Amino acid sequence: MSHRILRAEVVSVGTELLLGETVDTNSAWLSARLADAGYDVYWSSRVGDNLERVVAALERALGRSDIVLTTGGLGSTDDDLTREAVARIAGEPMFVDAVLEADLRRGYRDVGLPFSDLTLRQAQRIASAEALPNRVGTAPGWFVRLPEGRIIATLPGPPRELQAMYDAQLAPRLPSSGSVLHRHTFKTHGLGEGRVFEMLGDWMRSANPSVATYARPDGVHVRIACQASDEASAVARAAPAVDAVRAILGTAVWGVNDDTLAARVAEALRLQGGRLATVESLTGGQVAQIITAVAGVSDVYVGGVVAYDPQVKVRLGVDIDVIGEHGVVSAQTAEAMARACASWFGCTHAVATTGVAGPSPLEDKAPGTAFVAAHSPLGTQVRALRLRAGSRAQVQERAAYAALTLLWEALSPGVGAGR
Ligand code: AMP
Ligand code: MG
Repeated sequence: MSHRILRAEVVSVGTELLLGETVDTNSAWLSARLADAGYDVYWSSRVGDNLERVVAALERALGRSDIVLTTGGLGSTDDDLTREAVARIAGEPMFVDAVLEADLRRGYRDVGLPFSDLTLRQAQRIASAEALPNRVGTAPGWFVRLPEGRIIATLPGPPRELQAMYDAQLAPRLPSSGSVLHRHTFKTHGLGEGRVFEMLGDWMRSANPSVATYARPDGVHVRIACQASDEASAVARAAPAVDAVRAILGTAVWGVNDDTLAARVAEALRLQGGRLATVESLTGGQVAQIITAVAGVSDVYVGGVVAYDPQVKVRLGVDIDVIGEHGVVSAQTAEAMARACASWFGCTHAVATTGVAGPSPLEDKAPGTAFVAAHSPLGTQVRALRLRAGSRAQVQERAAYAALTLLWEALSPGVGAGR
């Protein structure tokens, strides 16, 4: 295994994952961590709470990967079988570890939960398993070295416990992958994924660095990834692609990496001494929610109203004749809402949303018809949307981000020009 990059994969255990009752967010979180740490992540899988099938899934994973992480199935009930499956693979009997038992009893006492014989299952271990302490919950994980250098580690199902255990306990114990993956993401607005693909031309066929596009609610993201033996080499090797992609995308880029559209909007407002308010019909408060997810935004965001009934729009200052003449779902009403909102809240900037979330038409307008408006000292911009998104939730989310995007353009003059 000297020169090969180590492979790692995740096996998620739980019947609820197969039935779609719980979304397997743990494998996404873990796989991202593993990829960032430079491991080759080629597979991940889900398996129900069935001993034979968990063993089979783990054997298959160990047949092709150096490191296998499991999530779930570490509780105290009969369907928590992950420990048993790993014991069977290692060919070792389980026993109750006295130290783990003491920890577990203390943990249960601290939170005032009764301790039963079933709970004791969580204190079990095999001889070759090193226990991974659980500082957030109760069930410890296992770190097991199998013959031929392969590793299997078990992590709990609850995401908070899993994340804390991976970062604090497991990551430091894992062998170095032999490589690092450097990623750089550009986040854009105003371009479809097909258009971005065309613009990037041959870069889309590059292998290392690789360039990929993702359509997201806040626009098309372009991710450049580069693998190398160390961070500095990976950054250097990615640099030509990063520079070229940045030049090609130009002003369509609103942010990079962990930037959020709302945070970028808040920064721009701060720079310009602006203050923002929102008035939402279609999106029912989602724009406000996205904005208030930004810590410390209260210096530029004053608040908003969900103006669902036309009467509320009128009370805010929208001319009833505008609604009467053009309808609630119209560019004119969206524009009037944004203006009225800025004036009512005494703000420099305002955004408004109106539209048909579906499934039924409204005012003879099809679901997905929406208008968003952004008011600024430079004027009021309106954008008409024909969202093909299926569900109400999707239409609302897309419209909320369209409103924020329009505001971003109003805050960055010249950026949205010519669209
Ligand atoms: P378990 O350890 O299997 O009893 O899982 C405990 C809880 O963790 C479940 O009820 C879920 O809420 C959550 N959970 C388990 N597996 C996953 C997963 N793969 N992704 C996200 N949440 C999970
Ligand atoms: Mg379970």
